[in-house]
Amino acid sequence: MDTPKYKRVLIKISGEALAGDKHFGLNFEDVIGPVCDVIKRVSEIGCEVGIVVGGGNFWRGVKDGGGKMERTRADYMGMLATTINALALQDALEQRGVDVRVQTAIEMNKIAEPYIRSRATRHLEKGRVVIFGCGTGCPYFSTDTAAVLRAAEVNADVILLAKNIDGVYDSDPAKNPNAKKYDSLTYMDVLNQGLGVMDTTATSLSMDNHIPILVFALSDPENIYRVVTGENIGTIVKEEEVR
Ligand code: UDP
Repeated sequence: MDTPKYKRVLIKISGEALAGDKHFGLNFEDVIGPVCDVIKRVSEIGCEVGIVVGGGNFWRGVKDGGGKMERTRADYMGMLATTINALALQDALEQRGVDVRVQTAIEMNKIAEPYIRSRATRHLEKGRVVIFGCGTGCPYFSTDTAAVLRAAEVNADVILLAKNIDGVYDSDPAKNPNAKKYDSLTYMDVLNQGLGVMDTTATSLSMDNHIPILVFALSDPENIYRVVTGENIGTIVKEEEVR
């Protein structure tokens, strides 16, 4: 059996990734099913898995509500969207026999546990997958920031940032065929060069708390297994190495 490189990981899955090619709603066949198959295998080799899920496949506060709605209310709608995704993932994981709990930052007692750090940690120790819904529970934040926050709180070894691109590039590879992919970057590189890995709040929070971020493509869900077992793919964002 493979040995995980990381004991505890926090996987951030954007809402849009869950929608697949349609960019809206949920794609169970091509995305959610295969992703949950891999999460099950990762959990079976002894890696503890927390998941923060986005909501962009249903609603993004600023993009969809900007100008037409009061900002905080639009953001709360985004947080509700993340909970829809959390429940979809929970269901797909349960169908595969994975022990899983959803905890939400905004209490929704009928459908999920409230987020309680010590309880989340206990679930992880017992090998249960924990899905964190509602982001941070606060408007003006993103689920990327929630991923870093939860990773810091539960002492995750790494944030696995599953994207629709296979790493971080110096320019947009969709527009520039000569775009160069980085294997490794520092948080300061990301901030200074304005690289589109995460928003600046999320990047600086991970920098301040020394949590590495591994960016890779979710288009091949097997990549989750690859990164957990230490294969060098994607781009790692971390502190400068002391030579
Ligand atoms: N959101 C928020 N606070 C949070 C997390 C999310 O207000 O802590 C809202 C915000 O409106 C955001 C939406 O929820 O646009 C969906 O989250 P996000 O855009 O991060 O999802 P993703 O792009 O990862 O699918």
